[in-house]
Amino acid sequence: MPEAPKQATTEYSLEENNKRKMEFIEDVTKNADDVQKRVLSEILSRNAHAEYLSRHGLNGLTDREAFKKIMPVVSYEDVLPDINRIANGDKSPILCSDRISEFLTSSGTSAGERKMMPTIEEELGRRSLLYSLLMPVMSQFVPGLEKGKGMYFLFIKCETKTPSGLLARPVLTSYYKSSHFKDRPYDPYTNYTSPNETILCQDSYQSMYSQMLCGLVQNKEVLRVGAVFASGFIRAIRFLEKHYTLLCNDIRTGTLNSIITDPSVREAVLRTLNPDPKLADFIESECGKESWQGIITKLWPNTKYIDVIVTGTMSQYIPTLDFYSNGLPLVCTMYASSECYFGVNLNPLCKPSDVSYTLIPTMAYFEFLPVHRNNCPANGLTSIAMQKSLDDKEQQELVDLVDVKLGQEYELVVTTYAGLYRYRVGDVLRVAGFKNNAPQFNFICRKNVVLSIDSDKTDEVELHNAVKNATTHLIPFDARLTEYTSYADTTKVPGHYVLYWELSQNGSTPIPPSVFEDCCFTIEESLDSVYRQNRVYEAIGPLEIKVVETGTFDKLMDYAISLGASINQYKTPRCVKFAPILELLNSRVVRCYLSPKCPKFAAQWSCNNKN
Ligand code: AMP
Repeated sequence: MPEAPKQATTEYSLEENNKRKMEFIEDVTKNADDVQKRVLSEILSRNAHAEYLSRHGLNGLTDREAFKKIMPVVSYEDVLPDINRIANGDKSPILCSDRISEFLTSSGTSAGERKMMPTIEEELGRRSLLYSLLMPVMSQFVPGLEKGKGMYFLFIKCETKTPSGLLARPVLTSYYKSSHFKDRPYDPYTNYTSPNETILCQDSYQSMYSQMLCGLVQNKEVLRVGAVFASGFIRAIRFLEKHYTLLCNDIRTGTLNSIITDPSVREAVLRTLNPDPKLADFIESECGKESWQGIITKLWPNTKYIDVIVTGTMSQYIPTLDFYSNGLPLVCTMYASSECYFGVNLNPLCKPSDVSYTLIPTMAYFEFLPVHRNNCPANGLTSIAMQKSLDDKEQQELVDLVDVKLGQEYELVVTTYAGLYRYRVGDVLRVAGFKNNAPQFNFICRKNVVLSIDSDKTDEVELHNAVKNATTHLIPFDARLTEYTSYADTTKVPGHYVLYWELSQNGSTPIPPSVFEDCCFTIEESLDSVYRQNRVYEAIGPLEIKVVETGTFDKLMDYAISLGASINQYKTPRCVKFAPILELLNSRVVRCYLSPKCPKFAAQWSCNNKN
């Protein structure tokens, strides 16, 4: 992820600035507990008059003990009524005494809609601070990055307004549109191939085209490439596969295709373009080859690493990235969310499976709820039991940042400057080690998520309800769905959801393909708005139903039991990842059907642009 500049680089030399940033990390990790105590007391004293805190009876107390005793641990649904009041125009200090400047729309959903996190202006500064740590850390491992550019594919997304006129948009859209990003002073570490205008272009095609073009024409200067998530970077490579001829025409002639109509984008791109037939021929010949293995190292020969998140569900893209890059290091620099930015990876060249994030104690007040999970080796699926609200005893189990235990898994709970108190983020982390007194966490998973291709996060209940809606199409044929499971297929770009269905049918009328296609479509229509938005913008391909032979799921159970699953406790996994199980399922597929069209997507309230 790109880093924000700090004024410091204009005042100090690069080395001095890097040193100061590393000293900051040293300092806050050494004094992690004191910093956390101070952060909590600052949040509580500033917001002492916030209605939420008074409602729960905190009455101006700012110490940790009182806070832990009095304030409940909550989920989004608990704060939703307050969030709705703010969205509808209540300007009283409900969650926080500062003015809520906007809502950040999370990729996590509630009742099918994106969650909306309140934020305040000064949080932008905290996000910038976290970004500003990334390159000083990186430069300890890869020197000389200041001598070239970063080619990052960055996009803004749909922006809506709440009924009271507050903006609601994704956190990165908010950041890229802020002066922290747009008006950054020159800094060799934030020197990107994409001009701001191309990143801030609302049309996703024009934005991608122009960013790719600028990246190609500056190919020798590029020292690092990336996007936020692995899926986004792979989408960019796929875009190149489809459009390289057009791009090469522009490079050859030094002109810009008329499909780019945004005047500010045209102006910015034309500034970087000069006719370069030699480069165009080279790119065209490389892209025209049958195999795209190592394409990144060929087109951008000085690239030292790929900067993308490949932890969590994004790990499914590692083989594809390895293929395109001939195994360049995959670097996960940071861990963040709409609620708050959390931490950085202090050992960025480590293997993706070893990545751990050091939470920066100044970002928010962090607590940790121990989790107990069920490992199901037979299906390769890790399930983490859904915990609804916590009882008093469970609330007592939360521990502070410096008290987590090595190897233990925890659910992350945050208290933010913007007015979330003891809020369950929904991520499960494992303690992998410590930097001084601050723990370093492996990202384990998002709770309950079974399927994910891009920013979508479908849980078992959503999947189940969607499948239930679809099976009504089978009723006229006296047919019934007896078992099902699912798989996130990312072998092609874009990836898509696959459902394996086993049916039983009493009626004798054959079920026509159109009925299964209707089932696919109904499932898609029933999934949440993040899934549907990703479908509409082609980050996810059409959902597929694969009908399997009768008896397939019995075979699956036999297989799980042969691997040690208990016959009494066996439950069909609702999602599979384990290769032998997929092989078994695929060997018994009799028919496949794809969703014939895109589900409908409309952002909550009105959408100001098309992305
Ligand atoms: P959003 O609220 O849409 O910004 O999404 C934030 C969520 O994305 C986090 O709570 C995590 O579940 C996930 N996420 C963010 N950073 C990482 C990371 N470095 N590795 C794995 N998952 C991440």
